[in-house]
Amino acid sequence: MAYVIPAPAQVTVPVEGGSEFPVRHVFCVGRNYAAHAREMGANPEREAPFFFAKPAHAVLAHDTTMPYPSKTASLHHEIELVAALAKGGRDIPAAQALDHVFGYAVGLDMTRRDLQAEAKAAGRPWDMAKGFDHSAPIGPILPADRFGRADHGAIWLKINGEERQRGDLADMIWSVAETIAALSTLVELAPGDLIFTGTPEGVGAVGKGDRLVGHIDGLPDLSIVIGH
Ligand code: MN
Repeated sequence: MAYVIPAPAQVTVPVEGGSEFPVRHVFCVGRNYAAHAREMGANPEREAPFFFAKPAHAVLAHDTTMPYPSKTASLHHEIELVAALAKGGRDIPAAQALDHVFGYAVGLDMTRRDLQAEAKAAGRPWDMAKGFDHSAPIGPILPADRFGRADHGAIWLKINGEERQRGDLADMIWSVAETIAALSTLVELAPGDLIFTGTPEGVGAVGKGDRLVGHIDGLPDLSIVIGH
C-alpha cells in the first residue's frame, strides 16, 4: 500500500529470551489497591474498576533514560504489573480471561500528578497527565507459562536504592482476569494490547537524575533513569 506519509513505526517490547511483542494500545486501571485508593482520597470499597489509556508510543524501553516531561513539577511513579494480550475479544468471561494473556512485565504508569489534580478539579480528561510521551516504561515481557501466578507476589519500587513503594499482587482489588473481563465490556480488546493493572501505595515524585528500579517477584526487573 502506498501511504501519503511514512507509516508510523511499530512499537515493540522485548520478550525475555528473544523476539519482540508488538504493541497496539496501552490500557490502565485506576485505584486497584485499597491502600493506594485511600492515599488518593478515594474509597476503595465503593468503586467499580475504571480505566484510562496511553498511546502505544508512550512505551519506553527498559534500561533507558526517560526525558523529564515538560509542564510538570510533580512527576510521580506508579509501579504496576502489566499484562500483555495474545488474544482479544469483547465480553470476555473472567474464567477465560487469562487464556488471552501472552505474558507479564513490570511497568511504570508515570504521571504528571499536578496536571492530573488540575484535571480532576476541573472535570477534564486525564490524557495529558497520563498519556504523554515516554509515560509507560516497561520491562521485558515474560511469557505467562514461565510466570504462572499473577495473583500473588511482592511488587516494589526503589529510587536510588531506597524503597518507595511495596505491595503484594494479592492486594489487587480486581484480579487480572476480572480487569480483562471488565475492560472487554467497554472496548474490544486485541492482540498487542498492554494492560497496566494499578499501583500499590507509596506513590510520590521523582527527580532529575533519579534511578528507578521496579520489581515483581518472578519477572525481570525494570530499570530507568530520569533525565534532565
Ligand atoms: Mn496507575
